[in-house]
Amino acid sequence: MDYTPIEEIPRIRDTLRATFATGVTKPLAWRRHQLFQLARMMQENAEALADAINADLGRPRMEAYMAEVCVILERSMICAEKLEEWTKPEVLTDIPDWQKPWHPAVYKMPKGTVLIISPWNYPLILSLQPLYGAISAGCCAVIKTSEYAPNYANLLSQLLPQYLDPSAYHVVKGEVAEVTRLLELQWDHIFYTGNGKIARVISAAAAKHLTPVTLELGGKSPVIIDGTFDMRLAAKRILWAKANNSGQMCVIPDYILVLREKQDELIEAFKEHYATFWPDGPLNSKSYSRIVNELHFKRVSDLLARTKGEIVLGGKSTSSFSFETTIVKNVADGDSLLEQEIFGPLLPIIPVDSVQDAIDFIGARNHPLVLYAFTEDSETKRKVIENTTSGNLAFNDCVQQLTVNELPFGGVGESGYGRQVLKYSYELFTYIRATVDIPKSAEHTLEVRYAPYSKEQLDF
Ligand code: NAD
Repeated sequence: MDYTPIEEIPRIRDTLRATFATGVTKPLAWRRHQLFQLARMMQENAEALADAINADLGRPRMEAYMAEVCVILERSMICAEKLEEWTKPEVLTDIPDWQKPWHPAVYKMPKGTVLIISPWNYPLILSLQPLYGAISAGCCAVIKTSEYAPNYANLLSQLLPQYLDPSAYHVVKGEVAEVTRLLELQWDHIFYTGNGKIARVISAAAAKHLTPVTLELGGKSPVIIDGTFDMRLAAKRILWAKANNSGQMCVIPDYILVLREKQDELIEAFKEHYATFWPDGPLNSKSYSRIVNELHFKRVSDLLARTKGEIVLGGKSTSSFSFETTIVKNVADGDSLLEQEIFGPLLPIIPVDSVQDAIDFIGARNHPLVLYAFTEDSETKRKVIENTTSGNLAFNDCVQQLTVNELPFGGVGESGYGRQVLKYSYELFTYIRATVDIPKSAEHTLEVRYAPYSKEQLDF
């Protein structure tokens, strides 16, 4: 992949800023046109996009199409349809009578020229979801793609100027040096998706310019199982989620906390579905993705090599970075599988004595992006809702919450801050401008403020 020449980066930012200053990105008709063009780009290049993602990640084309291309196609169109409603100024009416003639109102304004830094694991949706938000808000944007998904980055950099206004939207290809140069420049918002370590680099750079930041990060998303929900179905849903993109998804269940007496029943159910999903094993299945590269393959292999738990399913891998979905039982606090976000197809099971123990285990760690709980017990649900903190909370299925277009998505604490998807994406790139327009006729209500103050005022 050719990287964007570093010396071009300031010029790219300046071009976008000059475009924003002309006001061309502000009219709703213009924004709508760009959003429809983004949708067209998805429709007309669906195959090429799915092929690029398949080449980068080994992900089945259908999955890339359904989970990324279709989602951006649909959501760009929804944004175009909703723009009028979202951007409408709010005229305040519930105010004291004497201030009514001032026409207090709240306007939704574009922040300006923004930077979107995206990762490799869902390279399309994670770069273009913030982009449709920026377009909807009337902003210009640079999209920095990930060096780990070069086929997608190359394709996007070719397609984007064919569909969107190139003076307003630009792809920057590169890695650390290119991001470092981008971060030296002033932006009106930075939207970063990736890991918490780099998020600190982004935040520190943004702080120098007082730039607002959105951080979409990851972490260890736990699953609590109390045994009241159908165990076979729970295992089926969890196994499907964990194997998705070979476990390389920010919302994938990272580990399971199950009541001790239910652990073996859960494992039996996993074995049954494992055999059905991949009759010849995951490594021989066309429905199975691989690990992105050698670096992550070695990281995942090392985590598994050091576990003190017992491998009950999977464990094998190939030299081409395919790794079986691997289930490990009797994992205890301090294990290698609990050191960091796994971001791969390993699934540790930690037996606990009660739901409260599971809640305490989660509470002792960083706030997860998502918390999953399989239960039909309303008391367990109440306890989980009231006694835990997480960006999202899903009962009785995994990952599926992402398909609800209307739900906001984002983290809390170490899993990040800010909320995205549709209106929430639009709002990230919008600032609220409060206005008044005070007529001459209001002067009699304001006389009291002028000097010289009366004796009564001075004696106050
Ligand atoms: P990555 O390695 O692709 O990095 C993300 C971006 O940061 C890239 O554009 C990369 O060029 C840039 N970058 C890397 N090193 C840098 C440095 N030293 N300085 C400046 N920029 C640098 O992706 P990743 O971080 O491995 O992504 C995986 C992580 O992202 C996981 O933790 C996952 O949970 C999280 N994630 C979160 C979401 C979400 O929406 N919350 C979605 C996907 C992934």
